[in-house]
Amino acid sequence: MTDWTAVAAQLAEEFAPRAAEIDREGRFPVENVERMKEVGYLSSVVPTELGGGGADLATFAACQKIIAGACASTALATNMHLFGVGAAAEGWHGGERGAEPIFGMVTAGTVVGGSLTDAATGLNVRTSSTPARPVPGGYRVTGRKSFCSLAPVLNFFWGTAADTETGRLLLFGLPRDTPGLSFVDTWDTMAMRGTGSWDVVFDDVFVPDTAVQRGTDPASPAVWDAAQERIFAWFAVSVASVYLGIARAAARFAYDYVGGRTVTGASLPMARQPAQVTSAAEIELALRPAEAMVNDVLTRRADGELLAPADIQALKHTSVTAAAAAVDRCVRMVGGHGIFRRLPLERYYRDVRAGQFHPPSTDVALETIGKAALGIDLAAEPRWPSD
Ligand SMILES: Cc1cc2nc3c(=O)[nH]c(=O)nc-3n(C[C@H](O)[C@H](O)[C@H](O)COP(=O)(O)OP(=O)(O)OC[C@H]3O[C@@H](n4cnc5c(N)ncnc54)[C@H](O)[C@@H]3O)c2cc1C
Repeated sequence: MTDWTAVAAQLAEEFAPRAAEIDREGRFPVENVERMKEVGYLSSVVPTELGGGGADLATFAACQKIIAGACASTALATNMHLFGVGAAAEGWHGGERGAEPIFGMVTAGTVVGGSLTDAATGLNVRTSSTPARPVPGGYRVTGRKSFCSLAPVLNFFWGTAADTETGRLLLFGLPRDTPGLSFVDTWDTMAMRGTGSWDVVFDDVFVPDTAVQRGTDPASPAVWDAAQERIFAWFAVSVASVYLGIARAAARFAYDYVGGRTVTGASLPMARQPAQVTSAAEIELALRPAEAMVNDVLTRRADGELLAPADIQALKHTSVTAAAAAVDRCVRMVGGHGIFRRLPLERYYRDVRAGQFHPPSTDVALETIGKAALGIDLAAEPRWPSD
C-alpha cells in the first residue's frame, strides 16, 4: 500500500519553491495538479479495490496538512476534488455503491470541482437562487455561481440550482464541455490566489434528469444522517488540516527565524528573549488544542460514532480560528520583516484568513454550536435570515 504521507512530503518539497510566484502572479498551479495526477494523489482516496490509493480520512488530512505548508492554494483547490471523492469512498466501504462511476472517472484522470455558491446571494445548503426550469427530460438552467475552485482545470462540475416549480434544491453533475456552461476568471483576491476559484456561468444549460443526483425540499425538516455526516466531516477535517498546515509552516518559519537572528547589541539570538518564548508558547497553545480536536474527531469516527453537526462545526471553527491567531503571533515574533514579500510569512498571513469563509462560516458555526449547547433546535427562530 502506498505511503501517502511520504508522497505528500515529496510533492510539498517540489511545490514549495514555486508557491511565492503562484501567489504573486495569482495564477493557477496547473503543473502541481498535473504532478498530483501523475503520482496518483488525486485518486489516493478512491478504494484500492477500484484502482485507487485507499487513503482514509486520517491519511488524507495528514497529507493535505503537509501540502498546505508548501503551497496552500494547491492544497485547498485540490481539496475540493478530494474531499467529495473521499466521502463517497467511505460510503462505498459501507456498502453504498452509487459513486462507482465517479471513481472510474477519477482514476482515469478526471478532475472534479463544483460550486454550491450563488454569485449574487452566497451559499445556502438548503436552497439556491439559481433557477432550474423543468423541461421534458430535465431542466434548463441560467445563472451564475461563484467560488468554483479548480475551475481552470476541472473536467466534471457539480452545482446546485432550484427547481422553479417545486423549489427543490437540485444537486447535479455535468461535463465541462456541456453547451452553455462556461468558467470565467474573476479570482483576484487577497488570499488563496492560486486556487482558480472562478465564476461559473450557465447560459440556458440543459441539465438532464439523469445528471441530477439529489433533490431536496427546502421546506422539509433538515436530515442529518450518515451520508450528510460523512460529507461534512470529510470537508471540515480536510479544510481544518489545510489551515493548520499553513499555521504550522508559519510557526516553523518564525521559530527558525528567531533562532537564527541576533539583534544589534544582544549577545544571544532573539529566541532567547522571554517575549519570544512566550509567543512560541502561545502559538503552541493555539494550535495543539485544534490539532487534538482533529485527532479526536478522527478517532471517534474511526470507532463508528456518527458525529453531530455541532461536533464537526466546532472542529472546523476552532481550527481555522486557531490557525489565524497563530499566524498573527508568528508575524509578531518575526517583526517588521514579516511583512516583506520576500519572506513567506506574509503569504501565510493572507492565506490563513480565508479559513473563516468555508462552510460553516463563523456566524453559521456559532449558531449551530450555541443552539446545540443550549438544547435549542437549529431551525428555531429567531435566526438569520429571520424575514
Ligand atoms: C478560497 C476559497 C475557495 C472556495 N472554494 C469553493 C468551491 O470550490 N465551491 C464552493 O461552492 N464554494 C467555495 N467557496 C465559497 C464558500 O463556500 C462560501 O460560499 C463563500 O465564501 C461565500 O460565503 P460567505 O459566507 O463568505 O458569504 P455570504 O454567503 O455572502 O454570507 C455573508 C455573511 O453572512 C453570514 N451568513 C450567511 N449565512 C448565514 C446564516 N445562515 N447565519 C448566520 N450568518 C450567515 C456569513 O457568515 C458571512 O459573514 C470558497 C471560498 C473560499 C474563500
